[in-house]
Amino acid sequence: MNDSPKTRGPWHHRALIWFFSGLLGLLAYWLLGFVVNDIGTWPGPDYREIENRLVTPGLTAQVETLTLQLEDTTRTITEEKARQAVLRDSTDNSARTMNQLLEIQRLNSQRGVTASETERIALRDAQQLFLTTQKSYQESNDRTAALTEQLRKLETQRREATRLLETQRGPVNAEYARLQSRHQLKLAALKLSILLPVLVSVVVLFLRRRGSLYAPAVYALGAATLLKVLLVMHAHFPRFYFKYLLIGTSLALVARILVYLIRAAAFPKRDWILKQYREAYEHHFCPICNHPIRRGPLRFAFWTRRSLKKLSIPPGPGDEAERPYVCPVCATQLFELCPDCQGIRHTLLPACAHCGAEKPIAGT
Ligand SMILES: [Zn+2]
Ligand SMILES: [Zn+2]
Repeated sequence: MNDSPKTRGPWHHRALIWFFSGLLGLLAYWLLGFVVNDIGTWPGPDYREIENRLVTPGLTAQVETLTLQLEDTTRTITEEKARQAVLRDSTDNSARTMNQLLEIQRLNSQRGVTASETERIALRDAQQLFLTTQKSYQESNDRTAALTEQLRKLETQRREATRLLETQRGPVNAEYARLQSRHQLKLAALKLSILLPVLVSVVVLFLRRRGSLYAPAVYALGAATLLKVLLVMHAHFPRFYFKYLLIGTSLALVARILVYLIRAAAFPKRDWILKQYREAYEHHFCPICNHPIRRGPLRFAFWTRRSLKKLSIPPGPGDEAERPYVCPVCATQLFELCPDCQGIRHTLLPACAHCGAEKPIAGT
């Protein structure tokens, strides 16, 4: 790995890198979430429209009209009953007044006093009022009876229409469910058509760059995308398929970790470090800090690990390379004088290329 202890930098810097990687992942997750949500707002099938298409025309409207009429009639009956209560009070009142006046008249006639004109008018008015309110009460009662009869009829009509509508709604519900599931699949396909290319690019990035300096950012982006893809699949695909998908992914992940652990046990740390040192030397990079080793014919050259093959190495003085060399960036000795044969050997590789003298590798 390039991030050997010497190149990691101070701890707060590393913490900041992880913090901002986390932030990057969070923002990427949000961005994907916004895109997915916006796709989710695409309108689905219209229940009303399917109902209009499959149900006898006017049936729904009929049920609604009947419901409105029922409400109106019920309200009118309530009003009529309230009026009756008032009229009943009024009738009781006028009956009481009339009885009192009759009682006065009876007493007067016992004493032989004839009733005055005013008393006679009062009695007549009371009788009239009593009869009028009595009549109004009766009329209101008749109206209530008629309304109650109408209410009963309306209820019967509505019950029948509703029953008919319920039987016709079966196919409507089935059709709606069918269109709805098709709509959901369409949404899932659309969401995945955006998410999967992102996932593929992140996976490619992960495979290429997981060991590089930018690993934390790659990990953050990968985790955010993977999580979003899993959530979208969970929301749209039936549990039945999803559980196999989830268990499949988990199996692959666990298998991968197991392989890594077995390999790590089989090839100890020394081999890994040696492999990195060897590859770095092959590409003429400092194994510790990755700075180009500019010595011999490559003194003025510029290259990357990729462009190295295309680099035409100019023929130069051979003895130029045969000198000790220290990395100018991290001050690591990279080529040194072999104490056995006095030739120049790789400092970080186990054996001298000239005499084969061995020495332990630094860092193992
Ligand atoms: Zn270096
Ligand atoms: Zn040697």
